[in-house]
Amino acid sequence: MKIDTKLVLAGEPSPRILGAVTLPTFQSATFQYRGASGEVLRYGRYNNTPTHDVLHSKLAALENAEAAVVTASGMAAISTTMLALLRSGDHLIAQNCLYGGTLELFSTDLPALGIDVSFVDGNSPHSWHRALRPTTKAIYVEVMTNPLLEVADLKAVVDFARAHGLVAIIDNTFATPVNFRPLDFGFDLSLYSCTKYLNGHSDLVAGAVIGRKELVEAVTTRLKRFGTSLDPHACFLLYRGLKTLALRVRCQNQSALRMATFLAEHPLVRRVYYPGLASHASHARAVELFDGFGGVLSFELNGGEQAAERFLDRLRIAVVAPSLGGVETLVTRPVTTSHRGVPAEERQRLGISDGLIRVSVGIEDVEDLIADFSQALEGAAA
Ligand code: PLP
Repeated sequence: MKIDTKLVLAGEPSPRILGAVTLPTFQSATFQYRGASGEVLRYGRYNNTPTHDVLHSKLAALENAEAAVVTASGMAAISTTMLALLRSGDHLIAQNCLYGGTLELFSTDLPALGIDVSFVDGNSPHSWHRALRPTTKAIYVEVMTNPLLEVADLKAVVDFARAHGLVAIIDNTFATPVNFRPLDFGFDLSLYSCTKYLNGHSDLVAGAVIGRKELVEAVTTRLKRFGTSLDPHACFLLYRGLKTLALRVRCQNQSALRMATFLAEHPLVRRVYYPGLASHASHARAVELFDGFGGVLSFELNGGEQAAERFLDRLRIAVVAPSLGGVETLVTRPVTTSHRGVPAEERQRLGISDGLIRVSVGIEDVEDLIADFSQALEGAAA
């Protein structure tokens, strides 16, 4: 089955429950259980209500994976995975440009538990060898960096992990299984903030861990103990949102490319970052690896921070808000949101200017979006 069909059909109960075409929500914390042999003890925190089970099968099918498990948030997926795989004395190699929450977890909480983390440039495989230790257990990257959308040498990550017996982990939130399927590519675990594209409607917070069975089971065991499980109602919403993932992501791929092209040609725009543009540093790699370039782009205006603020004030369709991956176009200045905690010198090193604007393109008509951006740009210049 192609991914579009899997999104609709994979994991669905057979026979259908009372003939219901879509999965009913089992909003029950606990289920009848007598302890007979083979009987499953179902309980909300155990992440195994019937809604969880269907969702897990569907998510695993999307990546041709052995198993999947949903979590209370994207950060729950990341933190529970790291605590399931790493012990005090272990070492992790991680990309140096990560989502802020992940960066803080890796640079603060893991070291406090005796887990060392070395941060490396995702594009310099030779530097990873220098970071390697006898205690290194895993390597962690993101499919595209936020907000400049650079793509690490993902092939080298997988080869490096194989050569040194490491677990290869990727946060695939920005690409989604529609644009990139990490397990087919050789990663062991693919993590998601389902808050973003997988749910796609900006109305829940959730995460997922997809991959090899024994690794997902290790994560599930910790989920039960740490209580980082997903509520059944959120499971149902995620299950419903997932069915339209391919439609949404392909529309967002197309619209983001149109908007990036429009912005790149606009006289008031200094620079555009979108891997679908030939001018982007990761364009060739993105063409090689991905089925689409994603729905996020960033750009800088000629007038810097002040012009950026005037632009945001004038938007009428796009909403000024953090987060991404929903049906609504969301626009934010990373220095005020995702990168607020990153020191100015570090932001400068990463190439994130104060005036940089990040756009998560929604599913509105792209001509309406371009008209909105056009009038806001003219207004910002005036
Ligand atoms: N991973 C990435 C790439 C993100 O952008 C985010 C949140 O913005 C997260 C993980 C964390 O996800 P959540 O907010 O669902 O915990």
